[in-house]
Amino acid sequence: MSNDIKSIHEFDLNLICDYYSKVERQGPGSPEVTKKALSFIDHLNSRSLIADIGCGTGGQTMVIAQTAPGQITGIDLFPTFIYLFNSNARKLNLQNRVKGIEGNMEDLPFRDGELDLIWSEGAIYNIGFERGLNEWRKFLKPNGYIAVSEASWFTEERPDEINEFWLDAYPEIETVSNNLALLQKAGFIPLATFILPEICWTKHFFEPQESLQEAFLKQYEGNQTVREFIENQRHEAQLYEKYKAYYGYVFYIGRKI
Ligand code: SAH
Repeated sequence: MSNDIKSIHEFDLNLICDYYSKVERQGPGSPEVTKKALSFIDHLNSRSLIADIGCGTGGQTMVIAQTAPGQITGIDLFPTFIYLFNSNARKLNLQNRVKGIEGNMEDLPFRDGELDLIWSEGAIYNIGFERGLNEWRKFLKPNGYIAVSEASWFTEERPDEINEFWLDAYPEIETVSNNLALLQKAGFIPLATFILPEICWTKHFFEPQESLQEAFLKQYEGNQTVREFIENQRHEAQLYEKYKAYYGYVFYIGRKI
């Protein structure tokens, strides 16, 4: 790969937001995986308060709402995602239990000790895994649950190309066992950890982007930034195919001590 491949940080946020608002999921995952993670969480009832942080357009939130009881607040930085989130909730007639609000995961609008469950798929990296766990913990009731998915290394060592890609994209990426230690250190009992199956990346994340990429290239013909952005997306998918033995998304589920 050439050194011309840009870091995702260098692209215009509006472009990224426009692109991801046109797919169902903004990160790797699947309805089956969301349900599997939920299966480790007990004691939810219709009065339970659940927060889905970095909810995007709500792909996983609607699955939570259809599987478990409780009131769910989705929080995301991007107004377009929240608009789509709330219209998705209405389409599924979940608007009385599922509400999306604009907000920053670094400054959440909850009261200490009010939440039964904090959920976050493919988003905690924005604040950092360790900082997110430590800062969000106070919003949970005693014995409240946290369930987050995070890109993680599967091995102690890996080829330079993929190591360098991740050190640029997310230098905090850790091995599964180091993340588990961070979860424990932050004051959670580790209840379950599992690796997301490959289809969460391929069928549910990269494949829906393929036709969108063609459409974007047509719509923005001649636009250098868009062309580079799409090349970047395609590069990420190629790297995954080549190096998926070394990294992937992992769900971490813990209970507040
Ligand atoms: N949970 C969704 C989206 C994951 S992508 C899914 O799995 O499909 C990460 C999300 O985090 C994006 O929607 C992005 O807008 C949001 N995000 C990024 N920084 C944020 C911040 N500081 N506060 C809240 N949300 C943020």
